[in-house]
Amino acid sequence: MQHSDFLKSDQSPMTPPAILIVDDDPMIRNSIIEYLRIAGFSVDEAVNADQALNILKLKKIDVVITDIIMNGMDGLEMTRHIKERYDTDIIVITGYTGNYSYEKAIREGADDFVFKPFKLEELLLRLRRVLKERALTHERDRMLEQLKELAITDGLTHLFNSRHFYQELEIEIDRFNRYGHPLSLLLIDIDHFKRYNDRHGHLDGDKILKETARLIVSCMRKMDSAYRYGGEEFTVILPETDCLSAIYVAQRTRETVEENFRSAPESEKITVSIGVTEYAVGDSLTEFIRRADRAMYMAKESGRNQIAQILR
Ligand code: GH3
Ligand code: MG
Ligand code: MG
Repeated sequence: MQHSDFLKSDQSPMTPPAILIVDDDPMIRNSIIEYLRIAGFSVDEAVNADQALNILKLKKIDVVITDIIMNGMDGLEMTRHIKERYDTDIIVITGYTGNYSYEKAIREGADDFVFKPFKLEELLLRLRRVLKERALTHERDRMLEQLKELAITDGLTHLFNSRHFYQELEIEIDRFNRYGHPLSLLLIDIDHFKRYNDRHGHLDGDKILKETARLIVSCMRKMDSAYRYGGEEFTVILPETDCLSAIYVAQRTRETVEENFRSAPESEKITVSIGVTEYAVGDSLTEFIRRADRAMYMAKESGRNQIAQILR
């Protein structure tokens, strides 16, 4: 058996897995501890459940190995406590006979069992299996998180995408209906962007989209969220914000974009037109967005590099 195999932890390849042995029998406890330390694990010990739970409060433990019958809280009750509060796996040491059934241990959340009397080699094998499964579970959770991120992110600008925009706007409208806090929306469109693409090429156009996204985010407050709504159109949801404050954010955004390109050659200057509107009682999601869109077109018609608002 290779040492490095034991040392595989889901935290970092350099950190040995942290194991906690809970048993009131010092003979058993010490023999397990010694064996696992030699195998390269970081091992803590507790003589009862209370001690074990105190250690867990202070320290991240990957796997708890526990006896069932102990003074005070028994091993199964402790298993339930740990499973409710921590991401820790549990191996239960149990006898074939007695009041504690295998099924009950499973119900409380035990991840594996060792039946008494047991060999330390067997305990080690089970521990390795639990750790391997644990690493796989964590890897799967990480991948799922990444997938979720990807599903709501625009690949070019790394803002949220339009699918997420509709979901979030729906949530904010629900919140408005429940609490009545104001809610505003910005629709931001890059001016004459087709011309920019025609002159400088699509790749440079993409850089402008990224840069504009960055500038939009730099003008937002903490609770606001920005989305790439379509090709060169962006939206910003402004919760807890009335139209006046939204106009202020829009104005700042428009100025920041203009300022960012002030020293660029004339053909490379970028500006944006922004439509601003506030949610009104009874608005459907579509009506709300359409109003922001109409406001944005008003800003275009007034000469671009402008903001315009429509109140219902
Ligand atoms: P206006 O001021 O009226 O908004 O004019 P405009 O040229 O910006 O508007 P129009 O809707 O005519 O053109 C939008 C352009 O945005 C056309 C398209 O080539 C460009 N565009 C859309 N998506 C992308 C993209 O992902 N990358 C690049 N580089 N350009 C894009
Ligand atoms: Mg457009
Ligand atoms: Mg445009």
